[in-house]
Amino acid sequence: MKVLVINCGSSSLKYQLIEMETESVLAKGLCERIGIDGRLTHKPTGGEKVEKAIAMPDHTTAVSLVLAALTDKEHGVIGSLSEIDAVGHRIVHGGEKFAHSVVIDEQVIKDIEAISDLAPLHNPANLIGVRSCQKLMPGVPMVAVFDTAFHQTMPKEAFLYGVPHEFYEKYGVRRYGFHGTSHSYVSKRCAQLMGKPYDQSKIIVAHLGNGSSICAVKNGKSVDTSMGLTPLDGLPMGTRSGSIDPAIIGFIAGKENISLDEVLNVLNKKSGVAGMSGVGSDFRDLGAAADAGNELAKEALKVFAYNTAKFIGAYMVSVGTADAIAFTAGIGENDCAVRAMICDYLAGIGIKIDPVKNKARGEEALISTPDSAVQVWVVPTNEELAIARETAALV
Ligand code: ADP
Repeated sequence: MKVLVINCGSSSLKYQLIEMETESVLAKGLCERIGIDGRLTHKPTGGEKVEKAIAMPDHTTAVSLVLAALTDKEHGVIGSLSEIDAVGHRIVHGGEKFAHSVVIDEQVIKDIEAISDLAPLHNPANLIGVRSCQKLMPGVPMVAVFDTAFHQTMPKEAFLYGVPHEFYEKYGVRRYGFHGTSHSYVSKRCAQLMGKPYDQSKIIVAHLGNGSSICAVKNGKSVDTSMGLTPLDGLPMGTRSGSIDPAIIGFIAGKENISLDEVLNVLNKKSGVAGMSGVGSDFRDLGAAADAGNELAKEALKVFAYNTAKFIGAYMVSVGTADAIAFTAGIGENDCAVRAMICDYLAGIGIKIDPVKNKARGEEALISTPDSAVQVWVVPTNEELAIARETAALV
């Protein structure tokens, strides 16, 4: 069985074609600048990467170019489109409606549209990807896999904010959480690596990438997570502020004489470690700047590491006694200096990592010492494979 995984944004579309028998990627790629000019990058496994500027006025054109690349005589990996058995779509927000992945029909599309005000930048773009695929691959089953679904097991005390209850009842204001596909995949894999049954393991996952979130996974279920109603909540990130005193929003709007939307734009795009340091959001650049003596870069890294440690500490309460902490995503998998900083802040609760083992990059590794109070793992995430597995299971 072959599953095409589609992650469609407002001006980009990422894809992977996965052979499920071997769980191997046949080809992957990216359409960028959709609706602007257009750029396709296509990489067949074991073959040459193809990059070309090509007109992409809309998403349907982008999908048709992806399908053409997959079936291309020279760079393709399948003989015809009939070899694609199903399509798995990443959908950012499933609200309270979707606690699991679902096969897409007209009602599902309507339900996703109905919760689009919770993710106005993401859900409409995700649905454009669904519609485009339906048009070009009629009859092929499509599955929606939601970033929020894994967190629907959170108890009320974890998902309710301290605001009037009517905001929850009328508008669905609550913590939803994101990166659920990654938290689910990584926690499951970490339990396997520890040799513990998933439904009896307590794992704290630190997904640290451009967007970062922490998740407390108790007995295979998410019981708390740091992102909230939107992906702005929680940790300070590449360009996002994370949780701040909400009064700052009105205060800055008044001082700078700008609208609430403009303040939110700053909190989403010009804050986090980029805003704090003035260096940028890429942790490689930040690390290099800090090593060269840039004080603001050093401070931003410390704020990131300290807040990550603080969430991990808090989630020890959420899971009871944790069996493991699992680092994942771009920073979590690769940045050993940041991992070491985070674990230093956790030394007081008995967490110890081995500096040699902590050199692991992009590979599964146990990096804690044998006498550490909690095991610390690096577990690379694979959201596309997780989406493909969900899709295959449903069709
Ligand atoms: P997303 O999927 O959220 O866009 P990623 O999970 O790819 O993000 O993570 C991107 C982040 O990972 C960037 O801040 C980048 O600097 C960081 N990163 C990637 N590789 C490395 C590395 N080798 N060392 C340090 N940081 C890295």
